[in-house]
Amino acid sequence: MKHEPLSFIPKDAEGPWKTYLEQVDRVIPYLGPLAYWAETLKRPKRILIVDVPIRMDDGTVAHFEGYRVHHNTSRGPAKGGVRYHPAVTLSEVMALAAWMTIKNAAVGLPFGGGKGGIRVDPRKLSSAEIERLTRRYTSEIGVLIGPKKDIPAPDVGTGQREMAWMMDTYSMNVGATAPGVVTGKPIPLGGSLGRQDATGNGVFFVAAAAAKKINLPIEGSRVIIQGFGNVGNAAARAFHDHGARVVGIADVTGAIYNEKGIDPYDLLKYVAEAGGVRGYPKAEPVPAAEFFGLPAEIAVPAALEGAITEQNAWKIKAKMVVEGANGPTTPAADDILRERGILVVPDVIANAGGVIVSYFEWVQDFNSYFWTEEEVNENLRRVITEAFESVWQTSKDRKVPLRTAAYIVAATRVLEARALRGLYP
Ligand code: GLU
Repeated sequence: MKHEPLSFIPKDAEGPWKTYLEQVDRVIPYLGPLAYWAETLKRPKRILIVDVPIRMDDGTVAHFEGYRVHHNTSRGPAKGGVRYHPAVTLSEVMALAAWMTIKNAAVGLPFGGGKGGIRVDPRKLSSAEIERLTRRYTSEIGVLIGPKKDIPAPDVGTGQREMAWMMDTYSMNVGATAPGVVTGKPIPLGGSLGRQDATGNGVFFVAAAAAKKINLPIEGSRVIIQGFGNVGNAAARAFHDHGARVVGIADVTGAIYNEKGIDPYDLLKYVAEAGGVRGYPKAEPVPAAEFFGLPAEIAVPAALEGAITEQNAWKIKAKMVVEGANGPTTPAADDILRERGILVVPDVIANAGGVIVSYFEWVQDFNSYFWTEEEVNENLRRVITEAFESVWQTSKDRKVPLRTAAYIVAATRVLEARALRGLYP
């Protein structure tokens, strides 16, 4: 049976959804009889597009475009963050939801994949406007979300504050406090210790496990990190705390370099005042286009999709790229890095720390019994390292790059569940 492409995605669409489809095509030859169900992975299960009108502080009304996508729910409720960014589009949210399906399956969490977003620049709104936006968006997607249906979480442009408002709005609408409807909440509302830094810590755990495989000592290694938000700054602190030298950091404001190393704790203080890394007095400015060419052993893209492309993949000097962001490397860049012998540790394993601790938070909320930070961090380390080890083994056994190996593990789990559940009706 030949499948028609989705009509609402332009045939020549570039960007994250195309990247994701190419990644799926690369795994299909390795799925054996499960390939029968592979088309499932290329179609989101359901998509909701919502208009989000809010009253602005000046009395006018503004409309924003919001989305919530359930990519797959074969293995459990949809799970994935909500992004506030001016470049958010439907096809981007589709790709991000699909990567959540793969990520949750690759690390063995009992979740499907979902994602949401609003096309908005939150830096241009007041806190009161963001609250109204978040509450109206939560109400609009209320038909899809719920502790057993779909559990949102933070992503780029959202954090604990937005999760508190989402939890409250959903709870008001259903008439009962429902902490399990979102993860990444503030601790007093049923958030988990260790969630805030979980993605960055996970990036470090996976980088350390991968470094061991290629006989690269973390101690003394030079690291460059693109992005100094929730993921980048926690990763920078973890590398720094374990004796690596963070020599380069970039964010939307600029890129900085110091071959002796940058203290991320000191940089954080500067960024809190200055709003970005640009102008940090204890490092040199470097052009953003040169960032990935800086001398380092480990490169961590921890910003947005499409950061490493055909244009800059050949410049990378690192031995290893560890993907803190979702979808930072295009398939063409993946091929260049492989030919150059640079190990790419894919997003769906490397940045899974956030959703792993989201899972712990969800479990704690259901039990109303909370773990210590040590328990959370130790369980995170164990789950993410075991997931990395099994993907590494699959990559050796099947003689494929780590990304394809992660997709083999994940797609097999998703499609096995799909086949066992069968088609309804
Ligand atoms: N937004 C994060 C991610 O891309 C976390 C999602 C979650 O915790 O559900 O993995």
